[in-house]
Amino acid sequence: MKMKAMVYKGPKELQIEEVNVPEIGDRDILVKVKYCGVCGTDIHIYQGDGGSFEVTPPLIMGHELSGIVEQTGKLVTKVKKGDLVSVDPNDMCGECYFCKNAMEQFCLSNKGYGTTVDGGFAEYIVAGEKQVFLFREGTDALTAAMAEPLSCCIHGIDLCNITTGSEVLVMGGGPIGLIMMQLARMSGAAKVILSEPVAEKRELGLKLGADLVVDPIKEDLEEVLRNNCKNINTVIECVGNPKTIENAIDLAGKGATVMLFGLTGPDAKINVRPDVVFKKELKITSSFINPYSFERAISVIESGRINVTDVITDIVKLENAISVFENPEYRRKGKVVVKMF
Ligand SMILES: [Zn+2]
Ligand SMILES: [Zn+2]
Repeated sequence: MKMKAMVYKGPKELQIEEVNVPEIGDRDILVKVKYCGVCGTDIHIYQGDGGSFEVTPPLIMGHELSGIVEQTGKLVTKVKKGDLVSVDPNDMCGECYFCKNAMEQFCLSNKGYGTTVDGGFAEYIVAGEKQVFLFREGTDALTAAMAEPLSCCIHGIDLCNITTGSEVLVMGGGPIGLIMMQLARMSGAAKVILSEPVAEKRELGLKLGADLVVDPIKEDLEEVLRNNCKNINTVIECVGNPKTIENAIDLAGKGATVMLFGLTGPDAKINVRPDVVFKKELKITSSFINPYSFERAISVIESGRINVTDVITDIVKLENAISVFENPEYRRKGKVVVKMF
């Protein structure tokens, strides 16, 4: 059987091709992909600066997917044909030092759907049973496709030290910033401030629950925070820009956690004054992929308590997916999802 897929052939080279539908093993599941989101990581891979993992073309990218179970291997018991599922793309070995010490994100022989093995920008994907997560009947498939980015955000939030009554500054109102903002509220923040230069994104931020939105270009963010907050306990940087990261460190309150969530290029550097870190006892941290958070992402989605679909600005067909990679305008607006059927 053949299927259509978008194949990554090397930096700046994508092609829609007919390829074989992969065979499934006894513990595998063949998923008919419904939606697959375009992630910042995919763009980094496309541009040739690597993502979280080493990528060897040819490869079908795509790791933010939902789909319908088409076929199950002989030993599969978790799901059946017709079920709505998502796939946790990061398949850890369970045997190495890091897997054995509650740090599976650093697994030494991780398999990554869409990064080291074929992913979701195709009509079908084969995934091992343990990577497949079932949604409650009636869950919307577009929402389900957001499980993976949400799981990454949940791991980030786990490391943000947000406590009840915290004041949280989110820098960057892209899809990730808008999800982080909502998770911060869910985690007990009393005040969430969103800093974002694009007016439409600030508006969406307000709709999704920001207590205050600031245009960091036209307004003096520091002054706004001084007038409206007691102490910024957590800053979540979702831009991945060295200048914004430096600002995040300056704007953080006393005893604050600064979460560097936005991905910079591999060679980016920041200027930090240790004196500032010292006087404020800052905890500067970051978050790598999605360990132990996929199940909770499913729960959060099923709870309906956060809105993960309003951050989606475009839904395109596979035939038009290459233009999403070629044209930065698409991504500047927000999240793009490829609709397979
Ligand atoms: Zn991703
Ligand atoms: Zn491992």
